[in-house]
Amino acid sequence: MADDRVRRSTEFIEPLRVEPGSKVCLADDFDPGYKAGIRKKKDGVELLRAGVDLLADYQRRLAAQDTFGVLVCLQSLDAGGKDGTIRHVMSGVNPQGVHVAGFKVPSAEELDHDYLWRYARRLPARGEIGIFNRSHYEEVLVVRVHPENLARQKLPAEARGPDVWERRYREINDWERYLCDNGFRIVKLFLNLSREEQRIRFLKRIDVPERNWKFSPADVRERERWDDYQEAFSQMLSATSTPWAPWYVIPADHKWFARACAAAVLVRTLRDIDPRYPRVSAATRRELAKVRLELEREAPAGAEPDPYAASNAPGGAAKAGNHRKAGRSRTARKKAGGSGTAHP
Ligand code: AMP
Ligand code: MG
Repeated sequence: MADDRVRRSTEFIEPLRVEPGSKVCLADDFDPGYKAGIRKKKDGVELLRAGVDLLADYQRRLAAQDTFGVLVCLQSLDAGGKDGTIRHVMSGVNPQGVHVAGFKVPSAEELDHDYLWRYARRLPARGEIGIFNRSHYEEVLVVRVHPENLARQKLPAEARGPDVWERRYREINDWERYLCDNGFRIVKLFLNLSREEQRIRFLKRIDVPERNWKFSPADVRERERWDDYQEAFSQMLSATSTPWAPWYVIPADHKWFARACAAAVLVRTLRDIDPRYPRVSAATRRELAKVRLELEREAPAGAEPDPYAASNAPGGAAKAGNHRKAGRSRTARKKAGGSGTAHP
């Protein structure tokens, strides 16, 4: 992996990282319209493409190595762009290696368990990238802004005291540390939207019939609690950005920039993991060499014994060209209604 390429295509996210231990005031510290000096959307889209390419390669290695897993936690206010971020950032990766879990109002079964239970059940396996569309952080956000949610959680009286939020921060930090110690890296992205941009996006959801389903009058009631959410986000960022799982505050007013940032943070994390394809033992390689000979002996008359090796050997390009041409002509014959057998 070209480390230089990774560095160049990810260094712009550095100012978005919440320094562990620092005290965040969202309104003062992070500008939702920030673009890292990138003027043209075209350049941002290019940056995203570079990130998506790198991700695809890293994800193949992550899956093959089967040792580390990655959990991406996506948080934002309504209309912050979580769905679009997932769609774009994951556009190049193998769907087999990615799982998305969305979290809504907890079910009766979920409320019958400790608050982290439903999140723990949806964690990625080793080799996978798991995305939480909303995450365990709702437990210190919507639950904090609307305390009736806490009342529904059936906690014993001693666990409902005024220290409940400080305790949850600690429990979440401990849980994430435990995951990290055991091979699961956590990427925490907060899509930071301005109040004005939210207003515009809400209106679009009302104006465009195909987007009406995305809008709920409840979203407007949440918007009325804007300041409370800003405060809850600020406290969450201050208390839970840790050396093992730092937060990134992603400026979200420009969707293209938010997506490029999200991809870059993920690429950085994977670069740090540096997943490698497993190397097989000398004994297995000897075994493979034996099997190769057997397969080569099965080549039909006139066929290349090992077309892949031939095309990759020095000076083998011409042969590879022939091989591909043969493939095309078969397809062409099929199209023309002729014999499509593999060995004419
Ligand atoms: P959406 O993501 O638009 O489908 O909405 C999901 C809704 O579920 C949001 O209004 C969240 O605030 C709400 N939600 C998510 N997690 C929780 C939770 N732990 N407790 C209460 N409400 C939640
Ligand atoms: Mg919604």
